[in-house]
Amino acid sequence: MIFPINNIRNDFPILHRKVNGKPLVYFDNGATTQKPVAVIKAMEEAVFEYNSNIHRGVHTLSNVCTEAFEKAREKVARFIGAAHTHEVIFTRGTTESINLVTSSFGEMFLNANDEIILTEMEHHSNIVPWQLLQKRKGVRLNIVPIRDDGTLDMETFDAFLCENTKLVTIAHISNVLGTVNPVNEIVEKAHQRGIPVLIDGAQAIQHLSVNVTDLDCDFYAFSGHKMYAPTGIGILYGKEKWLNRMEPYHGGGEMIKHVSFKGTTFNELPYKFEAGTPNYTAAIGLGAAIDYIESVGLVNIREYENMLFDYAISRMSEIENVTFYGTSAHRTSLISFLLNGIHPFDTGTLLDKMGIAVRTGHHCAQPLMKRLNIQGTVRASFAMYNTCEEVDALINGLVKVRQLFG
Ligand code: PLP
Repeated sequence: MIFPINNIRNDFPILHRKVNGKPLVYFDNGATTQKPVAVIKAMEEAVFEYNSNIHRGVHTLSNVCTEAFEKAREKVARFIGAAHTHEVIFTRGTTESINLVTSSFGEMFLNANDEIILTEMEHHSNIVPWQLLQKRKGVRLNIVPIRDDGTLDMETFDAFLCENTKLVTIAHISNVLGTVNPVNEIVEKAHQRGIPVLIDGAQAIQHLSVNVTDLDCDFYAFSGHKMYAPTGIGILYGKEKWLNRMEPYHGGGEMIKHVSFKGTTFNELPYKFEAGTPNYTAAIGLGAAIDYIESVGLVNIREYENMLFDYAISRMSEIENVTFYGTSAHRTSLISFLLNGIHPFDTGTLLDKMGIAVRTGHHCAQPLMKRLNIQGTVRASFAMYNTCEEVDALINGLVKVRQLFG
């Protein structure tokens, strides 16, 4: 199949603008992706045609809006292969999804000296909530180290698994190294001991076909804005068996069945975890983003992005004195690197002058930076609308940066 890159680029109006007088080359997709017209239109239609608070009304607009919101949930459930639609909870994003598990699962099932396994390559949003829980409850955090190639030290992981382990929480793909972690193996090993697994899918859901039922993970978290949908919407997938037993996360409207001062009963799934008015406009946008991804086909996207990634790696290897961070054979979608002797902020700032957007810094992964013994990296992260010509522009830009620094 010929990948319809020109049509795709035309679907993303922002890609045609200039930055600092140069055509925009957007390689900051790991931070957030751009939005196609179809997503913007779906949200515009929701606001202009049927905006109304959901679930509570008997009137037409409320019913239409509720239906669109629930349809979006069905799309997400189908997209990730959830067994039940009510296992899909709308949140504000990955961060909130993880905090929900930390809080609701943590309060219910974790006690002092229980152990949680996480890894050295986690984003702060899969570290700090657990540290807060550690303060509240005295749980212990076991951190799986990485090897020099950016893969997990699975021997240590195996050694950590014990009868005190009550949860494993891990990124599907590292936002710094691009490493695709062996989540199937991790789930299988954890489940052999009856230990549930939470997967942070923030960097995976837009690149890989994720089927939570096949994967058999207990929780899977991701953000809409990294998969061509708007900000302010995300998903927590959770197995019914856990969600039913967990305490609600937030209290308020919508998550209750009956409220009295003698005691309150809670709504059924998924509403038990969706207190207050949700960002239904963004949820509808997320549904449209899924339609868009499916219209291109995740398999085609994967194949195209892999080609782009391989091309970028081979072209970057032509530049002298580059250090790559993350060299696993199983990595995808992003490249973290440093031009030796040049601060990543300088590289990023100079590239910006050439219209090229990359991310620089610690990427919300300071423990990983410490392990790598650096302050930060330059990260180029790819999406389905990027091209080999844009990779060439990046390479030319990096050559210029190198020349400027002598
Ligand atoms: N986890 C990973 C691996 C990420 O890359 C990110 C964002 O970059 C997050 C979690 C947090 O996502 P959000 O800020 O959308 O909640």
